[in-house]
Amino acid sequence: MADFDYICIGGGSGGIASANRAAKHGKKVALVEANAIGGTCVNVGCVPKKVMWFGAHVAEAINLYAPDYGFDVTVNNFNWQTLVDSREAYIKRIHGSYGSGFEKNGVTLINGFATFVNKNTIEVNGKQYTAEHILIATGGRPTQPKIPGAELGIDSNGFFDLTEQPKRAVVVGAGYIAVELAGVMHALGTKTDLVVRKHAPLRTFDTMLSETLVELMAQDGPTLHTHATPTQVIKNSDGSLTIEFENGESIETDCVVWAIGREPANDKIGLENTGVELNERGYIKVDKFQNTNVDGIYAVGDNIGYVELTPVAVKSGRLLSERLFNGQTNAHMDYTLIPTVVFSHPPIGTIGLSEAEAKEEYGEDNITVYNSGFAAMYTAVTKHRQMTRMKLICAGENQKVVGLHGIGAGMDEILQGFGVAMKMGATKADFDSCVAIHPTSGEEFVTLN
Ligand code: FAD
Ligand code: NDP
Repeated sequence: MADFDYICIGGGSGGIASANRAAKHGKKVALVEANAIGGTCVNVGCVPKKVMWFGAHVAEAINLYAPDYGFDVTVNNFNWQTLVDSREAYIKRIHGSYGSGFEKNGVTLINGFATFVNKNTIEVNGKQYTAEHILIATGGRPTQPKIPGAELGIDSNGFFDLTEQPKRAVVVGAGYIAVELAGVMHALGTKTDLVVRKHAPLRTFDTMLSETLVELMAQDGPTLHTHATPTQVIKNSDGSLTIEFENGESIETDCVVWAIGREPANDKIGLENTGVELNERGYIKVDKFQNTNVDGIYAVGDNIGYVELTPVAVKSGRLLSERLFNGQTNAHMDYTLIPTVVFSHPPIGTIGLSEAEAKEEYGEDNITVYNSGFAAMYTAVTKHRQMTRMKLICAGENQKVVGLHGIGAGMDEILQGFGVAMKMGATKADFDSCVAIHPTSGEEFVTLN
């Protein structure tokens, strides 16, 4: 008889969610985690990032907005380590709540690195465990560039290890992480340069979002360098670093942060002993039910390379357990209309098709695009007026809302409810039928014309 009904490898967002749900359905479950419980999101991702973003908000309130609200504030000191300590204490409490959840649900937590012995057996710290069903939820890790001196830089994991605030930093990359970390460091007082290799950061998002972000960065944000591909990093005799680019430019700095993407952590787990197939980029191949090509082995989360967000890993992990252990034979993840937020300054919220994608899918004549732009009221009464821009993309005669995008104060909290409306198939008329909440930014989405 097998030791467990279900073993989940990886105690991050996907593994924890799936293990708890299976145990709630009465199954005997083990969860194996090699590092801190909670995985990327809790330890070196969403959670510590959001705490730093809140810290940046406090700095912006004091430095940019307080004077025009009548406050004459003198800041004696900003202590980076205090912010880090508060953050880590919060994360410790999250670890504790996971522990009590496992106890309540009856999940056995095994600390150590799991490798497959065969399709039903794993080995952790020299001990073997068997199960009929095994989930691979091993997540991913940051990618490093292959250039001389790359090791002199840090990645997002290294950013969360910083015990001192860098005076100067260069962040390389154009995605979520680069934009978020550069924004946080700038707001907290680090002289920050954001370097992208193409024309803009977030260039795959709706152009309104990317262009507005660039405009707002120029007004108050990190210094943006475009068309700059790093060629090498050099350590100078005074301990500082120089990062050089293909276009002949170079920047002297104290800290280089690589944020150029992530890769799956599937390579050291003994997959060769199972026959599980990877795609050409090293991600685990799964069908819509999270099944790999090997019966009884499944994968969810960042290591399948679909949509790398915590709620996606959580939802697909839970749905898998509903299907395997609660008779919901058709339960599977729906990857359409996933709302997502970039915690930039100000935040970006986006769901559905960009304008370019909507034109491609429905034809230019079959879409209607509504735009709005205004200075967010919180900032409009100060010298640091900050634009908010919003866009609604509707398709067909009944104007079904197929894309909703915004950049501006509060956009991170505004998006969720509109996501529900769009999942229900809302049209422009449905949006307009809802009475506005005044005065807010969100009301713009129900008063566009
Ligand atoms: P992970 O959370 O990475 O968990 C995998 C776990 O498996 C790890 O703990 C690892 O130690 C463990 N493991 C690996 N191999 C083994 C093994 N062989 N044996 C035992 N254990 C093993 N998403 C959002 O939705 N919102 C955000 O704001 C957000 N911010 C982010 C900020 C940063 C800086 C980063 C890096 C990511 C962010 N993400 C965010 C993405 C989010 O963190 C991931 O999508 C999510 O954590 C993926 O969950 P997962 O379960 O697939 O993997
Ligand atoms: P992303 O894949 O989002 O972005 C990385 C970008 O860096 C690429 O798109 C590319 O942009 C650029 N890049 C790639 N290689 C190089 C290179 N060699 N030199 C310079 N630039 C390069 O990766 P991230 O690491 O930012 O984030 C990983 C994922 O984690 C995200 O996609 C997201 O799913 C998740 N995440 C979510 C967050 C949230 O929900 N708020 C926050 C953080 C992460 P280009 O081609 O334009 O140059």
